[in-house]
Amino acid sequence: MADEKTKVMRMAAPKKKILFVVMDGLGDRGCKALGGKTPLEHTSTPNLDWFAANGSSGIMDIIAPGVGPGSDTAHLSLLGYDPHKVYTGRGPFEAAGIGLIGKRGDVAFRCNFSTVNDKFDVVDRRAGRVKSPETTELIKALSGIVIDGIEVLVKEGTEHRAALLLRGKGLDPDVTDTDPHDVAKVLTSKGRTKGAELTASVVNKFVRLSYEKMKDHPVNVERRKKGLPEANILLTRGAGSFPDILPFTEKNKMSAACVAGVGMIKGICGICGLDVIDVPNECTGGLDTNMIKKADTALNALKKYDFVLMNVKAPDLSGHDGKAEEKCSTIKKLDEMAGHLRKNLTNDVVIAFTADHCTPCEIGDHTGDPVPLTVYTESIVSDAAVKFSESGCAVGRIGRIRGHDLLQICLDLANRSEKFGA
Ligand code: ZN
Ligand code: ZN
Repeated sequence: MADEKTKVMRMAAPKKKILFVVMDGLGDRGCKALGGKTPLEHTSTPNLDWFAANGSSGIMDIIAPGVGPGSDTAHLSLLGYDPHKVYTGRGPFEAAGIGLIGKRGDVAFRCNFSTVNDKFDVVDRRAGRVKSPETTELIKALSGIVIDGIEVLVKEGTEHRAALLLRGKGLDPDVTDTDPHDVAKVLTSKGRTKGAELTASVVNKFVRLSYEKMKDHPVNVERRKKGLPEANILLTRGAGSFPDILPFTEKNKMSAACVAGVGMIKGICGICGLDVIDVPNECTGGLDTNMIKKADTALNALKKYDFVLMNVKAPDLSGHDGKAEEKCSTIKKLDEMAGHLRKNLTNDVVIAFTADHCTPCEIGDHTGDPVPLTVYTESIVSDAAVKFSESGCAVGRIGRIRGHDLLQICLDLANRSEKFGA
């Protein structure tokens, strides 16, 4: 047992704050265009390297070795949750991403504004990529709907996308899509289990009703005049129930927020109980995003919150597009952002630089390769790592960990970890 003196010292250790800098899809593989190096290995990154040289590094399997995660499951894992337990499909997470955050028992769907003819054949799955303000106007026509005692909530998303949330007793997400995912007839949703029949029936009624309410809506009269495909139906897919997640703040006994430009990341963080901070307009979530502004938003958030997760989407986009050189330019900007953080970070912060998965340029999609990781705080034990990259971080003392281990490691460094045992 610890003597009284050590006990007092431990209790007196000041609690630090934690900042996760998640550089989306940053990890890569050797690229022919870069002489066999990864974009991180190829690019000079003096600031990220400073953190690697002075901090502890390692590599991380976000979910498990060889498992390629989506950004959604990856962020759940980074927040310390087991995605196999809490991930209930894209519907609820995308709905939350556009501000439709449900509660336990609610069932959510991803939707498309589509164009159908009067025989319910889909003519254009994306209704000519209709977008707000037209979708915002159309959604208004669908407010306040109740079908068979089930409350129906809908919200428009980016472009032709929307989300549907059903609330009421006896709902079950185990239903099939009404979206044929092709130019074909609108499908009838079916319950895969007996308990899901009510949900399927409400969905089918809602889809019909969306057509009735939108087909002659002024927005569509106008589109018809211009020869544009009418946004005259909402088609559903990806049903999922809202998970029963113990809020991050309660689980870890600290206040928490996220700084992200992408709706899906905001949705995940929102479902996990983090406050979602509005980012300035310059933080677009695209390649042109203002990373310094985003870093400032995170630094400001740290004044108020104990934990901040910041996501920068840009590297993932170049990975999907297969543009290795472009990914290198993005990494240059990320490094400047790291330099800005280094200059402005107070010494009561534990900072972790990592990625949510690899998006190798030669693959164009997420893979299950481990991502680089560097953790830094004052008085951390440094190691052999001097370069922030896939190979550079692998020599560090953190070794090879899983995504959900990172939070615990940072909680410990922040003097927030509870002792196990006497
Ligand atoms: Zn991602
Ligand atoms: Zn991606």
